Amino acid sequence: MVSSDNLYSRTLDALDEAGNLRTLSQAEHQGKWIWKEGKRMLNLSSNDYLGLAADTALRDEFMRTLSERDFLFSSSSSRLLTGNFTVYDELEQMLAELFGASGALVFSSGYHMNTGILPAVADAHTLILADKLVHASLIDGIRLSAARCIRYRHQDYGQLEALLAKSYKDYERIIIVTESIFSMDGDVAPLDRLVDLKKRYPGVMLYVDEAHGIGVRGKNGLGVAEEQGCMKDIDFLCGTFGKALASVGAYVVCSEVMRSFLVNRMRTFIFTTALPPLNVAWTKFILSRLGGWNDRRERLAEAALRVQAAVRGAGCECPSSSHIVPFIVGESNQTILKAEDMQRKGFYVLPVRPPTVPEGTSRLRISLTAAVTEEEVDSLCREL
Ligand SMILES: *Cc1c(COP(=O)(O)O)cnc(C)c1O
Repeated sequence: MVSSDNLYSRTLDALDEAGNLRTLSQAEHQGKWIWKEGKRMLNLSSNDYLGLAADTALRDEFMRTLSERDFLFSSSSSRLLTGNFTVYDELEQMLAELFGASGALVFSSGYHMNTGILPAVADAHTLILADKLVHASLIDGIRLSAARCIRYRHQDYGQLEALLAKSYKDYERIIIVTESIFSMDGDVAPLDRLVDLKKRYPGVMLYVDEAHGIGVRGKNGLGVAEEQGCMKDIDFLCGTFGKALASVGAYVVCSEVMRSFLVNRMRTFIFTTALPPLNVAWTKFILSRLGGWNDRRERLAEAALRVQAAVRGAGCECPSSSHIVPFIVGESNQTILKAEDMQRKGFYVLPVRPPTVPEGTSRLRISLTAAVTEEEVDSLCREL
């Protein structure tokens, strides 16, 4: 028998050979810059899309608003026991009001959210129809549920409609699952079209993950659903606080009934320690100012258009219509070389490889932020 360590190291060797071995690297952060091995690079790999996490003045302002009550680094309990501090209810009320819904519920992370909601609401009489490219956390949520699931081809709504037409009579409910801005291709789903489809068949619900849309799109920064005018027609309007909102945690905007149902049935909500009240207070602070940051949203959108054009100019296919711009190289080892080259030139971009993206589509994932200046965008475009 081989030793168990040998068994695992063989897998690691194979990953290494294919250029797919991952390691945890260390870096110093300084605003929009990152320091590594004595070199300063522009950080184009974070999800701080509005530049809020790098904004120290904003943090100072927040610190001045804090009272003793908020200054807690742990909730020391699940929300169903003693972890439900006032600031939680305040945040959920703020969310419901902003989105014009009757309920909202906050979770410890987007991963908790996506692995918890679907298993709670989908039973054996449910069919889940999920976009082929949804995030790993959604796939795990689907796996944990008792529902049957079919993945439709990425944004192929003809196929989705055929599946709806064929299946709606056989199930109590169907849940369509999609992201609004897809994390690896940066393309945007026409949510209004999905709402249309959902309305054509009885018992269909729509689940949208706006992890990359919240803060960045819409005239109040509420996401792609706000931009496309369909917030009220989405049954599970989900998003995370860890990206543009510079905090931690996640939320669903839904009906009051659904909120109560999740409080009673969602295992990743019930059996985990609630977020520290201090972080929740920071999220509330950021959300209360979100509508005022159109200047940042516009700067980000302009930078995105220019970088998309530069990628296409370099002869690369670019599916993006957002601030997430993939530069698809194809083969993993070549992608690593290209990333190293960009890093030498002062741009911290990272290679994204299988299994995060399909085999043969390894890429640099350029993740823009509003903190990047026009000159920096120019020079990035030249180097690509
Ligand atoms: C980042 C991300 C998540 C996970 O959110 P965390 O709060 O980081 O756990 C979920 N869904 C999508 C689409 C994401 O990009």
